[in-house]
Amino acid sequence: MPEQRSATETAVLRLSEGRYTDAGEMYATAARGCLYGESVSRKTAYESRGRSGVGRAFAQFARSSVCHRISGDEDRATLVAREGVAVAKELRDHVLTDVVEGSACDEFIGDMRASAGLSPDGAYDSADEGYAEVSDGASETGRPFLQAGTELLSHLSRPDDMGWDDIHGSGGDALGRRIRTKKARMAALADERVREGKLHAPRGSTEYNTDRYVCPDCGSTDVNHVGGTKLCLRCSSQTEEV
Ligand SMILES: [Zn+2]
Repeated sequence: MPEQRSATETAVLRLSEGRYTDAGEMYATAARGCLYGESVSRKTAYESRGRSGVGRAFAQFARSSVCHRISGDEDRATLVAREGVAVAKELRDHVLTDVVEGSACDEFIGDMRASAGLSPDGAYDSADEGYAEVSDGASETGRPFLQAGTELLSHLSRPDDMGWDDIHGSGGDALGRRIRTKKARMAALADERVREGKLHAPRGSTEYNTDRYVCPDCGSTDVNHVGGTKLCLRCSSQTEEV
């Protein structure tokens, strides 16, 4: 029996195969599924108005845009980003009730536009203004909505693997620092992935120096368990059991 993979898992598999048009389509499918309630929370975009899980959808739209750009399809990258931006604006203006999540919509608008190679167009500045009203920014970054945006930046930074501290700093003003980091790095990282022609798989759980797996492409024995599959941590190819 073939395994049932989620759209996100299939997208990761397509990344490992270097099939970026397919990965872009699967990430867009994952984004639309998340809005429809096919996510961990099982909630649609209109449920959980104070604590939404749909940040994952916006992150998937952004990944989809990067994949289409790697395939050389700028127009498709733009269309996917515009779809995500339209949804983010609707949720921000008519649905979400929390100031942090409303501002996170602005942040994601910046992320999706930057991922598609478009100017963030003031979106990060709007997010910064909203976040300035928040008192305990560091703990707010634990919301699923914001976590999705942290994971997106980490993913696009691979293989450098920016972590929470790289994005938020270790002092106060975590959300201010987050926006400054996004402004400085998001578009540059997306452009770098496009220039390299490669988006690594996201980092899942990792094992180093295994004696059970070796990558047929680069020889590494470090494994990235992600998307229901085992990839080389270094080059994101399918690793092989020895
Ligand atoms: Zn490898």
